Amino acid sequence: MISLEEAQTRLFALATPLQVETVPLLDAHGRWAAVPLHAERTQPARDMSAMDGYGVAHANGSGPWTLVGESAAGKAFSGTLGPRQTVRIFTGAVMPAGADSVIIQEDILRDGDQISLSPNMAVAFGQHVRKAGSDFAHGDVLIGAGQQINAARIALAAMGGYDHLPVRRRAKVALVSTGDELVEPGAPTREDQIPSSNALMLAAMLGNEQCDIVNKGIVPDTLDALRAALRSAEADIIVTIGGASVGDHDLVRPALLAEGAEIDFWKVAMRPGKPLMAGTLGSSLVLGLPGNPVSAFATAMLFLKPLVAALGGANDPFLRRDHAILDGYLPPTGPRVDHVRARRVDGRASPVGQNDSAALLALAASDAFIIRPPGSPAAKAGDSVEIYIVS
Ligand code: AMP
Ligand code: MG
Repeated sequence: MISLEEAQTRLFALATPLQVETVPLLDAHGRWAAVPLHAERTQPARDMSAMDGYGVAHANGSGPWTLVGESAAGKAFSGTLGPRQTVRIFTGAVMPAGADSVIIQEDILRDGDQISLSPNMAVAFGQHVRKAGSDFAHGDVLIGAGQQINAARIALAAMGGYDHLPVRRRAKVALVSTGDELVEPGAPTREDQIPSSNALMLAAMLGNEQCDIVNKGIVPDTLDALRAALRSAEADIIVTIGGASVGDHDLVRPALLAEGAEIDFWKVAMRPGKPLMAGTLGSSLVLGLPGNPVSAFATAMLFLKPLVAALGGANDPFLRRDHAILDGYLPPTGPRVDHVRARRVDGRASPVGQNDSAALLALAASDAFIIRPPGSPAAKAGDSVEIYIVS
């Protein structure tokens, strides 16, 4: 049994980012820049007005000025201002030669083409002017390799001169549910059967992630059926669900070995989720998740989701941690890291009660896991705890 951190390190060592493809800007949303993106232009390209007003030279003191023209966004004033000349200028318009400052229209008195400053007003050098290159200059790094493309970075890339971005292709993920007791959700169940809930849960969890999911359905607990399912899976990540413990009917490991897989680790010191398995089968990564629904959920959050991001080239693929104030009592922990289902309210986290790895009602009532490192002493209300946000 290895620690959670070692298991994550070993899994990510197996994960080589997928091929680079160049896609339209909007299709890059949520993916990760494959290379650093350098600005193709300077922004602003020239000194620009940040306000609606009048462009003047600071050296003219408090005026008065004579109005000689207009500079609007997209329609620059082409002349050069002489002494005590001004132009009407608008937000986003280029500053004309001879002007270095903008007086907002609320601060002037105007009489025909004669402009003067309102009483008790002064012009500060460069006021209301965005200097050329004050946002970014040609060649600056706009987005670092491995940074995720969000709405603001899409705007930044567009402003930097791009309409396409190089990103990694989306991972293909195959979900293989195993177990003679499983039936498809919605089908009638005998008392010794259960609906196969995990595949749909994982498909939902990965639904907003950068991957395409193929649900391979339910495979019975026979070596031949499992081997056939593994052979036909054809995915960047093959996820098996169940059959990963040490029971007579837990055949995922023998099936993988019979197909020539290399198993890197099996069993992780975490709760829930101990019987987690990871390795490679040909060019596919294999993640063997435990069958218990809460174990499958936790291991998918901590290993599968980050793995999809790592294949996408993310520089920080791990689930985000946060802090909360504990609302309740937690007993000391043993040698495994414990993930206590909890609900967050106003920075406080309350354990939801039942911590059984098959208890779906408790899982559904939670939106966070309280992280209890191995060997933690008891924790009481008011203590600070680390959490994962899992909703
Ligand atoms: P296993 O790892 O196959 O021993 O499964 C552990 C527990 O999880 C058993 O109670 C299984 O019935 C249950 N289980 C396995 N696969 C699924 C699944 N796809 N959906 C819901 N429960 C499952
Ligand atoms: Mg099973």
